Amino acid sequence: MTPSASAPRTPLRHLVLVLGDQLDPTAAALDGFDPTRDAIWMAEVAEESTHVWSSKPRTALFLAAMRHFRDAQRALGRTVRYVALDDTGNTGTLGGELARAIAELRPERLVMTEAGDWRVLQALEAAAEGARVTLEVRTDRHFLSTLDEFRAHAKGRKQLRLEYWYRELRRRHGILLDATGGPEGGEWNYDAENRGSFGKEGPRGHRAPVAFPPDAVTREVLALVEARFAGHPGDLAAFDWPVTPDEARRALDDFIAHRLPRFGEFQDAMWHDEPWLYHSRLAAAMNLKLLDPRDVVRETERAYRDGRVPLAAAEGFIRQVLGWREYVRGIYWLYMPRYAQANALGAREPLPRFYWDGDVELACLRDAIGQTLRLGYAHHIQRLMVTGLYALLLGVEPRQVHEWYLAVYVDAVEWVELPNTVGMSQYADGGIMASKPYAATGKYIQRMSDHCARCRFDPSKSTGDDACPFTTLYWDFLMRHEETLAGNQRMALQVRNLGRLSPADRAAITARAAEVRSAGGAPPRALTLL
Ligand code: FAD
Repeated sequence: MTPSASAPRTPLRHLVLVLGDQLDPTAAALDGFDPTRDAIWMAEVAEESTHVWSSKPRTALFLAAMRHFRDAQRALGRTVRYVALDDTGNTGTLGGELARAIAELRPERLVMTEAGDWRVLQALEAAAEGARVTLEVRTDRHFLSTLDEFRAHAKGRKQLRLEYWYRELRRRHGILLDATGGPEGGEWNYDAENRGSFGKEGPRGHRAPVAFPPDAVTREVLALVEARFAGHPGDLAAFDWPVTPDEARRALDDFIAHRLPRFGEFQDAMWHDEPWLYHSRLAAAMNLKLLDPRDVVRETERAYRDGRVPLAAAEGFIRQVLGWREYVRGIYWLYMPRYAQANALGAREPLPRFYWDGDVELACLRDAIGQTLRLGYAHHIQRLMVTGLYALLLGVEPRQVHEWYLAVYVDAVEWVELPNTVGMSQYADGGIMASKPYAATGKYIQRMSDHCARCRFDPSKSTGDDACPFTTLYWDFLMRHEETLAGNQRMALQVRNLGRLSPADRAAITARAAEVRSAGGAPPRALTLL
């Protein structure tokens, strides 16, 4: 097959580039679209699935949503030059495909909305420059703040902190404010009420998120991905993600009605074989631009005003979407491209193999990685305090950690994944995103989940065969970085606790940590005698 649909009558005025994470029919790039003189360009290219070893669910979600967008645009009478993955002549790269389209269609100008990935922007700019065609980049109105506003906010500040940016956006957009213009309920932040665990009984009374069984278009994509990327990680059997704006809206309504009321309370809690709990699973729909974050924030506030959800839940959720989401985007574009190279703690270990197959004895890692490969999803605390924490304590090179996170999650787009991974979870940016490393022993996981009760390792032990590797590696991490961390006020207590260890304790921990590393990142399995 060759690229389907011919262009409008020549000469072509605008070729409007729509990337896989720009599936918003109201995007700025489509402003003033004239069907008689303009055309849309979309391309499925192998490079986007191979530059990191992208999981099957991630690739499938992007392609399925792109094809639905293409069909919706064609139904509006618009010309879409759509290059499918298996089309004859597909060069396999965005730059190559754009160059080919320019040569064939000879547009006067290329128009796009701001990209979500620095590498992709470079490739498109290079193709445009090579063909001597102007590339006009328009502001991404999907976000509630612009990159210029974030730059202005950052200017002159010694340190950036989410809280200040979040408050500024709440005020600017009039969200969760009382009659005096202050924060609803008197506080800006109800985080302290949002750290519940499920105790011994486990989660009860929650229901699974609404599922979206694949239609014919999506089924075709699933078969294509299965065939083309057979060796890639992940599984497509459970694929049920929203792939259109209508489905994304139904997913939002379902979350607000059934899970938002307890989102805050159990935001940080984990339980085995319970991937969704009270989370929204809306990140992918928002990141592909199927869902407008304004609708998410507005409906959440309305649910609170109508008395359907407590303030702590509404505020906690709005802080994620209006606060963190806009904040990490600002950080990404402020510090790229050097942010991708950051390695403040000089971490050099390879990423353990079990991150790619889930074959590991630790119950918490096995659960988080297993569901990640099965569903393309893990919630924030699983990413931050299980897989992320383990890589941090082990000392894995941040670039490898970043490539894993970018590859395996359906919601992974670099502007949001990179600061979360390199900054928040690996502290590789030296404190731009987080004021201190998120370092903890296995006891944190014990408190927030039932994993330790189902695991042979003991989170209270740092040495010995049954010592929890999180705990061993935590102390080893503090020892390895004692000098650097001692200068951080917020780490003072943790570093002081090192003083309780005798030289013999220190040596035993170092030896056990070395054993864990040399066994591929996790202790060798206990021998079972038959
Ligand atoms: P919920 O728990 O329901 O949260 C609601 C929404 O808030 C999310 O959908 C998301 O849009 C937003 N949000 C919450 N936390 C963050 C955050 N820290 N940064 C930005 N937005 C946030 N999020 C992504 O969207 N894509 C990624 O590739 C990604 N990679 C991550 C990597 C690491 C190491 C960590 C620690 C976090 C990462 N996050 C990422 C943030 C967060 O974990 C996910 O947004 C969330 O788990 C998605 O599930 P959910 O939609 O059910 O979110």
